[in-house]
Amino acid sequence: MICELIFTGTELLLGQILNTNAQVIERELSVLGIDVYYQITVGDNLQRCAAAIKQAAGRADLIIVSGGLGPTEDDISREALAEALQLELLQDKKALEVVKRFFDRRGIPYTTNNLKQALVPEGGRAIDNPIGTAPGIIVERAGKTYILLPGPPLEFNMMVKEQIIPFLESKLAGQVGVIKSRVLKFCGIGESLLDEKLGDLLRSTNPTIAPTAKFSEVHLRITAKARQASLAEKMIASMEIRITERLGSYIFGVDNDTLPGAVTQVLREQGKTIAVAENFTGGQLSYKLSSASGAEHTFVAGLIAGNYRQLQEKAYLQLSDIPQRAMERAEHMATMVRKQFSTDVGIAVAVEPAEVARVTVAEYNLYIAADFNGNLMLKKVLWSGEREYMARWAATMVTVLLWRYLKHGIPF
Ligand code: AMP
Ligand code: MG
Repeated sequence: MICELIFTGTELLLGQILNTNAQVIERELSVLGIDVYYQITVGDNLQRCAAAIKQAAGRADLIIVSGGLGPTEDDISREALAEALQLELLQDKKALEVVKRFFDRRGIPYTTNNLKQALVPEGGRAIDNPIGTAPGIIVERAGKTYILLPGPPLEFNMMVKEQIIPFLESKLAGQVGVIKSRVLKFCGIGESLLDEKLGDLLRSTNPTIAPTAKFSEVHLRITAKARQASLAEKMIASMEIRITERLGSYIFGVDNDTLPGAVTQVLREQGKTIAVAENFTGGQLSYKLSSASGAEHTFVAGLIAGNYRQLQEKAYLQLSDIPQRAMERAEHMATMVRKQFSTDVGIAVAVEPAEVARVTVAEYNLYIAADFNGNLMLKKVLWSGEREYMARWAATMVTVLLWRYLKHGIPF
């Protein structure tokens, strides 16, 4: 199946926003084995949008339009589709329900503008949008499928995942049987090393394997097409075995598993507890380690303060003199928080400006320290960039380091 994507919105052409919807839909389509040959971006202009749809229909089987389903004058996607296919726009019962429900739930009146959002080209159908005003639209005509989706990324992502993918899967299933997939989740390995280790497996066509790099994680989706579900599952299982043979020690979970969840699980298996002291990561460590399922058995406490001195004076962490160097501070905080809360593991992060000559951007030494029952581990990273991003990265890195050490004994 060949697909063409049309992104509408003058703001995209002016560089005011990044086209994140493109990435989301393209990843999902590639996993399904649907080929995308062209991706078009068009401004909020009825004629140009209609022309783009016609052009796409001349070279693709599936045409997906993102954006332009709002209530205002410049939202012209449904009109453009009607124009391109020479169809009337009719009020649709289901679409009207979606629009009305949005306003009823919030107790706000809808305007006549919003009624425009309940229009669907004749013969088409509305798709539910549980979190926004604009329903999506599917029109199947002359062997082609046209899908219109709202632009706001939250709505777009949710509708792609929950409605469009299952719809396309069932369409494809008519051709191949069933499609099943499973995501293996890796940490502590970059996409390029993963690529190198998997080599030949990445070229497999059924099942396909598709890597995507996330923040400190790499996900690998295995997708199999077969006549029966059980056969597709077998194909996935045997591919998973081959991948695990090569890279098993990096896999922390599958499908909906999370890294904090994996850390919590190992802590539970080992009967260990953890505490954190934070004056840099602003609670992100506590959040990660306390919100995973089962964390009530493993996470004892987190102290959060704005700086090291406040940790001591206001958060009552029993620190001795303030060490000059961030490295010592991180270690001292990790040990003291472990002792204060009588846990097996204590964690802390500290940062100081790096003394690097000849650089124009500010650079920092970031230290992640852990105390495992008296056994100190320290990771030093040289960092340049925004503080907020560094804090977020550090909090994620802590979960990676913890998991690798607890699970496989790999030192920081
Ligand atoms: P629209 O449905 O086109 O009116 O889009 C509503 C809002 O969603 C826009 O103002 C953008 O902020 C956002 N948006 C639209 N298209 C995209 C896209 N392709 N990627 C990311 N955000 C988008
Ligand atoms: Mg728009």
